[in-house]
Amino acid sequence: MSDRIDFTEEDKRKTDIIEDKPEIGDDEGYEKYCFMCHRPESVTGKLIDLPNNICVCQDCMQKSFDAMNNMPFDLSQLTNTPGIHFMNLSDLDGILPKKQKVKKKKEGEPKKPIIDIKDIPAPHKIKAQLDEYVVGQEHAKKAMAVAVYNHYKRVATDTMDDIEIEKSNMLMIGPTGSGKTYLVKTLAKLLDVPLAITDATSLTEAGYIGDDIESVVSKLLTAADNDVEKAEQGIIFIDEIDKIAKKKNTSQRDVSGESVQQGMLKLLEGSEVEVPVGANSKNAMVPLTTINTKNILFICGGAFPDLENIIKERLNKQSSMGFIADLKDKYDKEKNLLSKVTVEDLRNFGMIPEFIGRLPIIFTLQGLDEDMLVKILREPKNAILKQYQKLLALDEVKLDFTDEALHSIAAKAMKKDTGARALRSIIEEFMLDIMYEIPKDDNIGVVTITKEYVEGNGTPMITMRGQAKLPVH
Ligand code: ADP
Repeated sequence: MSDRIDFTEEDKRKTDIIEDKPEIGDDEGYEKYCFMCHRPESVTGKLIDLPNNICVCQDCMQKSFDAMNNMPFDLSQLTNTPGIHFMNLSDLDGILPKKQKVKKKKEGEPKKPIIDIKDIPAPHKIKAQLDEYVVGQEHAKKAMAVAVYNHYKRVATDTMDDIEIEKSNMLMIGPTGSGKTYLVKTLAKLLDVPLAITDATSLTEAGYIGDDIESVVSKLLTAADNDVEKAEQGIIFIDEIDKIAKKKNTSQRDVSGESVQQGMLKLLEGSEVEVPVGANSKNAMVPLTTINTKNILFICGGAFPDLENIIKERLNKQSSMGFIADLKDKYDKEKNLLSKVTVEDLRNFGMIPEFIGRLPIIFTLQGLDEDMLVKILREPKNAILKQYQKLLALDEVKLDFTDEALHSIAAKAMKKDTGARALRSIIEEFMLDIMYEIPKDDNIGVVTITKEYVEGNGTPMITMRGQAKLPVH
């Protein structure tokens, strides 16, 4: 059981902790807070002043005394034991805050909207910008653009009247390396909002080994340079969400599966979370602040292996029931099976209904085929080929790839089954020699990468300045 005193919602609203307020004479609007439970003096009653600007409330002081009295041994004996030292408060000088004060929240102060409704780009503009970076995934880009547009409209209006716009948290389902993380990163960049990316596998129920669920909000605060208002309108991307599916056939407590889903419900919906400022764990040394997740956009992503089988099973069951029973293997070769996903399938996968209910926008990403991989190599604004071409252009060398070479790279990547992620490592493997050899010779004008070179049984074509193409040896 924890000895910490829990905040009431009222207390939280009243306080907003600030760090190291400089010691200026004007203390108006500030009050002391307890070093241990972080409640301000207006809530705890008179605080007891200790050396080094530390104040402790009477409850916490009493608890400390009680804890000491209940120890199964005599403390005075312990102080005489060699090797055991008690910490002196004055040793903490430099670590402790200069002044322990919190900012009193002004009651009834109207909150000014940060996002202007006129500044939010329309969905087609968001999609057009995503198009510059992300190849294919048309449906995902469209769904995302609309959801984000609606989300920020909701934030900008901040209406609390009868028609409250529902939060557009999203769930992205797509194979690994199909661009889920990349889409979110691109989106956050073009909207200029802070983004925190977390892996759901590292999360566990509070109190168990691993990151507790609220640490995702703490990461967002760091991404927003500790600016609470900015963080409150940021995006949190939780990857590998399929890994927190309910574990089947287990009798143990499911601390990293179902419990994490349960624990995230409040965050997804919107609640006040207490997070440490400037650190990623709560302890007595760091000030805490309260972040409201109401306007934070949550995007969850996962590959959901086996989901296809669940969908197939459902479709087969449906089609074998009517008068016109279909063939059993009708859906075996269906390419875009994942896009037929329903909430029921996700529930069968192990996601709890309350959790899926808080992610109303569900869309799927396609697995990438060879042609898409070739496009990814060549077309995005910061395509890998463009990056290499720019590097060599600085040496005044033109870098070309034949079409067959690009298809050969894409085919190699397809075999690795990690989507577009494999492309970079394949290219880096053979570009190393080129990047090493080319700057040696000032006369080289053009380097053309051929299929034979990519496949390891040939050489690139080299054109000297003002000469015909020559193979190198
Ligand atoms: P995941 O779906 O597993 O989150 P990522 O988004 O991390 O995959 O993709 C890995 C890399 O592959 C990205 O950094 C990006 O460079 C590239 N990539 C993946 N999909 C696409 C795409 N559709 N268009 C452009 N690049 C992509």
